[in-house]
Amino acid sequence: MHKKLFIPGPVEVRKEVLEKMATSMIGHRSKEASELQKSISNNMKKIFYTESEILLSTTSGSGLMEGAIRSCTAKRAAVFSVGAFGKRWHEMAVSNNVPADIYEVDKGKAVNVQEIDKVLATGNYDFLAVTHNETSTGIMNPIEEIGEVVKKYPEVIFAVDTVSSAAGSKVEVDKCGIDICITSTQKAIGLPPGMSICTFSDKAIKNAEKVKFRGTYLDLLALYKYIKKKDYQYPSTPSISHMYALDYQLDYILNTEGLENRFARHIEMANIVREWGKTYFELFPDERYISNTLTTIKNTKNISVSDLNKKLGLRGFQISNGYGDLKEKTFRIAHMADCTVAEVEELLSNINDILQLK
Ligand SMILES: *Cc1c(COP(=O)(O)O)cnc(C)c1O
Repeated sequence: MHKKLFIPGPVEVRKEVLEKMATSMIGHRSKEASELQKSISNNMKKIFYTESEILLSTTSGSGLMEGAIRSCTAKRAAVFSVGAFGKRWHEMAVSNNVPADIYEVDKGKAVNVQEIDKVLATGNYDFLAVTHNETSTGIMNPIEEIGEVVKKYPEVIFAVDTVSSAAGSKVEVDKCGIDICITSTQKAIGLPPGMSICTFSDKAIKNAEKVKFRGTYLDLLALYKYIKKKDYQYPSTPSISHMYALDYQLDYILNTEGLENRFARHIEMANIVREWGKTYFELFPDERYISNTLTTIKNTKNISVSDLNKKLGLRGFQISNGYGDLKEKTFRIAHMADCTVAEVEELLSNINDILQLK
């Protein structure tokens, strides 16, 4: 039996979108490929509220994260981490020989904006990496507030991981002063995994020009130059299947559901899961910065999360255990992409039934 996914990626994908993945191939050097890629870029600019150029990569979100920190740090990167995906930025910097420092907080907390100000004021950094929605803890960092601070430091490239939030929660790239905003297909956008997308500002372009060793496949500047020269075609063969599905889904998000409706639906689903979590358990993250796309619940009843998931599986549902050492201590319910309020309610009533919660 297929299990409906309530995990923070990959998510449940609409049948129509899956069918688009099976579209017949076209040559990646054709005029049609250019048109397809331009259409995706134009719509992604709307999703991100930006005038910056859009870059596509046939990698999962981690690909563009690695590409960003490597190709756009000329001096030193400051990584503000609130969990596993924040740490990943730092690991990527270190393994690529990019000078970097990591600043961490306790799990379940958001970044300390004053600390970002203090750290950037040292003048040691020209790259700042922040996770918008930390999927391991269920924290959503205050990206606008961070953006206001970063605006005081025009030499700093502001890179944000919105892998598990973009298209589910509003991210206004230009308003927040974000230079590189990264997401991937398998989370709130609602596609199968395999492709990632980012914005690339003029400031990021200028900084990348100062970096000598930017790699090849994930060199953001090379991608940018190539699409500009070749009418939005990419240097290597992209996943054309994803492009068909993405183009279709972006049109659906923008013109059928509507962005504001989509964001409102995500908040409605989040409120239902939070209320449920507070009624029967406790919420794990600091509620002031709680995520709109997934909820992390503290396992205060000491249930076996893996056992619950097995029983849910028999009924056609799947949730997520806690991440890393939060396993069994927390569990996570994702409510993102095209999941409906009714489906969330159905999931929760099945959990109530299994756990005999009243
Ligand atoms: C899933 C996720 C990633 C990793 O993305 P991949 O597409 O799996 O490489 C990075 N950051 C966050 C916040 C995520 O949720």
